[in-house]
Amino acid sequence: MKRAEQVTFGGGGGLDRKAQLREDPQALAQAWAAPGSQVLMTWRGKVLSQRSDPERGPDELAWITTQHPLATACRAEALYLGASAGGSNLFACDISAWQPDALDEMALASFADLSEQQHPDLPIGMVFAELRRIMARLTPLEAELAATAKALLSWHQSHQFCARCGSKSEVTQAGWQRKCPQCQAMHFPRTDPVVIMLITHGDEVLMGRSPGWPEGMYSLLAGFVEPGETLEAAVRREVFEETGVSVAEVEYLSSQPWPFPMSLMFGCRGRATSRDITIDPKEIEDALWINRQEMMTVFAGQHPVLKPSRKGAIAHFLLENWLADTLD
Ligand SMILES: [Zn+2]
Repeated sequence: MKRAEQVTFGGGGGLDRKAQLREDPQALAQAWAAPGSQVLMTWRGKVLSQRSDPERGPDELAWITTQHPLATACRAEALYLGASAGGSNLFACDISAWQPDALDEMALASFADLSEQQHPDLPIGMVFAELRRIMARLTPLEAELAATAKALLSWHQSHQFCARCGSKSEVTQAGWQRKCPQCQAMHFPRTDPVVIMLITHGDEVLMGRSPGWPEGMYSLLAGFVEPGETLEAAVRREVFEETGVSVAEVEYLSSQPWPFPMSLMFGCRGRATSRDITIDPKEIEDALWINRQEMMTVFAGQHPVLKPSRKGAIAHFLLENWLADTLD
């Protein structure tokens, strides 16, 4: 697909990850101390962000210098993201241990978390915001940095102990590895492959919804790739399991790093050879075929049942390109 990398989190912002620095403590220390070096803070999976226009929601990442006390406090576990095209060294740190006053836990757990957390040591207006909320407004560079920081820092949060012997492991390689001091095992960050598929039958596309989604929300079917399975087989299996629809040819279209918490979405299309739907109620709540005309109405926000899919998500991107006939 020619437009494949135009998806949100699709990169292209000129980040140089400089992987060679990860095993060079001296070069890393120099990068940290260099003028203009900055740190992106995360807190419970949310990223530090700010508003370019006070009237609107957060729409850009907020950075602090490596000299800021919050940054120096987490120096030992800081993740090296790389250097921007302008040469600034970029790091990321997690401060999930911070407990804000009057925290609304319900808002944090909600499907669309609109809450913002203001740390007392940060300038007013720099707030932790849910990445799904701001992802479509970030520049390609910001989106790649936010996705990388969130995915990697989430992995550290949930992989504190060695999977081989159970000892507490340590951050190495500037945040790109963990090492067990007991049995010397090395652990690498996980990326979980997920297929998401545009299944068509003539002029119609197959849409489904999971239990617990907001009313009217439907999306393309998706599912984790299992060990020993190709992307194509995963597409056919998931579609058949969830809806009973059989799929013939499957073709890869575009991928999207999806840091919720650390997936890689493989956008595919497939041609259905059957049309009858029998849903598996354990997996989905409903599935239906929608034709192009109806999908235009959905995108215009005028459909009586379906709401438009979330901008920034690969489902939205694939559907938009399907409507525009730009999947090739
Ligand atoms: Zn171990």
